[in-house]
Amino acid sequence: MKDPKAPQAPSKDTLQISRRDLLSIGSGVALAGVTLGPNPAWAGPSKPLPQVPRRVLGKTKQTVPILLFGGAVKLDPRFDPKMAEALRFGVDYFDAADCYGGGTCEAAVGAFHQRAKVRDKIWITSKSDAHSPEGMASTFDVSLQKLRTDRLDMYFLHALKDPAHLSKEMERKVALLKKQGKLRFFGFSSHHGNVVEMLHAAAKLPWIDAVMFRYNFRQYGDAELNKAIDAAKKADVGLIAMKTQGSEASFRTRWAPFEKTGRWNKHQAVLKAVWQDERISAAVSHMDTFDKLRENIAAAVDNNKLTQVEREALEQYAQATRGAACHGCDHHCNSAVDAPVQIADTLRLLMYHDVYKEPDKALRLFSALPESARKLTGIDFSGASSACPHGVDVVAEMRRASDVFRC
Ligand code: SF4
Repeated sequence: MKDPKAPQAPSKDTLQISRRDLLSIGSGVALAGVTLGPNPAWAGPSKPLPQVPRRVLGKTKQTVPILLFGGAVKLDPRFDPKMAEALRFGVDYFDAADCYGGGTCEAAVGAFHQRAKVRDKIWITSKSDAHSPEGMASTFDVSLQKLRTDRLDMYFLHALKDPAHLSKEMERKVALLKKQGKLRFFGFSSHHGNVVEMLHAAAKLPWIDAVMFRYNFRQYGDAELNKAIDAAKKADVGLIAMKTQGSEASFRTRWAPFEKTGRWNKHQAVLKAVWQDERISAAVSHMDTFDKLRENIAAAVDNNKLTQVEREALEQYAQATRGAACHGCDHHCNSAVDAPVQIADTLRLLMYHDVYKEPDKALRLFSALPESARKLTGIDFSGASSACPHGVDVVAEMRRASDVFRC
């Protein structure tokens, strides 16, 4: 029987982002030069909508939109209209994970494509938090079930920190899944401070098709990271940027002067800055509201590059908020503290609390850290503040973490 409370598939009239909307969102974004492709399946035979441009994703040789729909947000478990709307503008790549949404993301993506009948029109990536070959294979089977599909386009080892997990045995498991027709492509995501090491590892392994890694406007002058990106690009590894906003710690009080640079707000500007790097195929964005979805699509369909003035404003923004963003490189700071702390992990969870507004998730993940890493009081963090090359006030941030996580 039909559930009367179930959300209805959105009509074109209620959910369509009109061309006028897009123009106003972009504050006069010139749509000249925007590729007008056919409407995706969801749209039906109406007038063509601007479509998000596409790029080839490395050795997969497949094209993906430069803007990917990130699933680390609360999705409607029965039918999420934001996904439908994204698809209308060509955002047909959905990035899930076994753990996103407290474990509900995959089921929501599965419900969406089944109800919209678009499985053949979309790309689904998911991820495993288990990094052993057996763990990955068993999580993969659960992912297939939850996603209501018999094949995945891409599977990542999620937040991989140790390259030793990219073993021969893992390669064999991946080859078997591909041979069975259950998986098209494989790779990993890299969240930690060793992105450089992980990109070089990927460059040496022909069976790693793509890597999703932390990359944002704060890192453009990072020579080691640039070399690693070059090596991965040369090996034809598909490169996807994540955490493009670069807000690894709360810096809301310092946002205000940079809220808008030229035509774009700062969220749009940092995405455009990433897309200007031709080595990067796409950027994933966790768009939890229609406003963010509209803004990001408006930025993506606009072919104009950031102007010199806008680039300079972004650079000033990076400089002004430099000491408020943690880069995850805790090999610098952890060892400067006489206790088994996990500074980067703690600050990342503080960001979930402050910036992503996910206090429950932040608390749950913090509770999962080793007990010794959760003890934040009575510890002298001043050595970590001095050791941090990015100027993060670790003393103040850990004091705040202690208040937020009540430990
Ligand atoms: S506090 Fe500084 S040194 Fe420590 S992980 Fe963050 S950015 Fe790196």
